[in-house]
Amino acid sequence: MRYAIFSDIHGNLEALRTVLADAEAAAAEAFVCLGDIVGYGPRPSECLSLVREVCGAIVAGNHEFAVTNKLNTQTFNASAKLAVEWTRAHLSEDELRFLAELPLTARGPGMHIVHGTLLAPELFDYIQSSYEASLSLAGMEDPLCWIGHSHVPVIFCEENGHVVYRTGSRYTVSQGRKAIINVGSVGQPRDRDPRASYALYDDGDRQVELRRIPYDVEQVVAQFQDSGLPLSLGERLRVGR
Ligand code: ZN
Repeated sequence: MRYAIFSDIHGNLEALRTVLADAEAAAAEAFVCLGDIVGYGPRPSECLSLVREVCGAIVAGNHEFAVTNKLNTQTFNASAKLAVEWTRAHLSEDELRFLAELPLTARGPGMHIVHGTLLAPELFDYIQSSYEASLSLAGMEDPLCWIGHSHVPVIFCEENGHVVYRTGSRYTVSQGRKAIINVGSVGQPRDRDPRASYALYDDGDRQVELRRIPYDVEQVVAQFQDSGLPLSLGERLRVGR
């Protein structure tokens, strides 16, 4: 099976459409979403419709929790809080109910999926160091765990008794070794690369590819200008941070 696995769309419909077209061209058969479909961006409802249409598995991110009042926004910065309020006001009852009912974790063949960490998914902690990755790796029953949340693509894998931090775009999942793979962000990358990020995974040859796809950022900035959302949230898309 060839999977397209993506996260952190954040209401960026242009980036989502571009990623889905790229994944379809790459013959992806199953689509998996790791959360934060909404929040920050100007097209939350359209992004949610598309994700519901194509994805076989979807887990909740912290923005789904915030928008549905399941998470206190006191740790969010001022723009993010404004965007939560704006997003809640731009989703229907049915859409909010769907987001409120999303699970925090799910499992597929040989894989876990979660937005932040498997250890305590409801806390939405980050896995950014080999040490943090080692805590989650120790509790994994399946060899692979797909995550998002930091908006930075990276692979943490077990090698010779250590957890290695890998930034390359290609990785082969070796038999008997576990890995946590952060697929980066579709709609708001934060690694100074403005291109949309997602992963392709073929469980036949066990190849992972972290892909970066350019999309029409200026069209999205123009949508921000018309939306009433803080313009800084659109402008950051130009630089990917
Ligand atoms: Zn996010």
